[in-house]
Amino acid sequence: MRSRNGGFIGLISLLAVFAMAPVRAQTSDQIQAALDAAYAKYKDIKEGKNADYIPALARVDPKIFGIALVTTDGKIHTAGDVKSEVSIQSISKVFTMAKVMEQQGPDAIVQRIGVDATGMRFNSIVAVEFAEKALGGPEINPLVNPGAITATSMVQGGSRDEVWQSILDFHSAFAGRPLRVDQEVFDSEAASNQRNQAIGALMYAYGFIKDNPGQAVDIYTEQCAIAVNAKDLGTMAATLANAGKNPVTGKQVMKVQNVPEVLAVMATAGLYDDSGKWLYRTGLPAKSGVGGGIIAVSPGKFGIAVVSPPLDEAGNSVRAQKAITDISNTLHGNPYAPVSAKAK
Ligand code: GLU
Repeated sequence: MRSRNGGFIGLISLLAVFAMAPVRAQTSDQIQAALDAAYAKYKDIKEGKNADYIPALARVDPKIFGIALVTTDGKIHTAGDVKSEVSIQSISKVFTMAKVMEQQGPDAIVQRIGVDATGMRFNSIVAVEFAEKALGGPEINPLVNPGAITATSMVQGGSRDEVWQSILDFHSAFAGRPLRVDQEVFDSEAASNQRNQAIGALMYAYGFIKDNPGQAVDIYTEQCAIAVNAKDLGTMAATLANAGKNPVTGKQVMKVQNVPEVLAVMATAGLYDDSGKWLYRTGLPAKSGVGGGIIAVSPGKFGIAVVSPPLDEAGNSVRAQKAITDISNTLHGNPYAPVSAKAK
């Protein structure tokens, strides 16, 4: 029997279906306008400060500000300085984690490292102690230093050179061009990374790293010094948005089935202690680095990256967070948002 207000309910359901319908792809003009608006709005802000615990990072020009959005059909949109390079730093943790999944499957990450946020700083030693003593095992994640150094130690290869080359090649395939290391940053961090050496030794002592922790820290430090510009990072993010296929080169660079796990760890732990706030505002899996880059992924739609060295207290680029949030919300990038709710 049809209820008296059945017609009204039918109308409401129809409206709800329209509200949830996928948005039509944004036009190139709309995308470019969103990038240009964010660039103009945040170009002159003065908040934040370059990282200086790695001496070479303090010397990078704080005015560098570049935005690149790459759609899953391979269109590249840019604003500002997308040529200047910064060191990739922690953003490399995403790709080394993905490399381990390629070689050993996603379970290797959960079983050896863990996939839970630590609630502590990215280079916390207490987090290792806590995981080992209180939680009794792999309860860290590959996006904080103890987990990242362990992930690097898990990359397979017959020699240091072989391991390093496979990590560098993997990053390059995501960027769609051969990447290189910023030797000044590598030397600077290698001379001042005693804390990471301690973390590597502790991870070895507890059996997370199986052997040669010194080599793992050294390769990890080198991967953090890979030089990238905003366009490289945008393409790397777009490859994750495009199920592991680089939309610019057309090459499948990682297994489709591992992409969800990579994005899940980015969503829970990508922006240090502000990962929750970030997800709350954008819904996007993302990763920041102390070099000033942030990548963010709108699955099936686009990858976006911003490079701008000054960081906030949590260690995330100030301009990058603001610009990506504005652009993604304007373009309906949030995978959790019904289309009507985020239209601004
Ligand atoms: N190489 C840096 C470190 O280990 C990376 C930190 C980061 O970008 O979060 O301290």
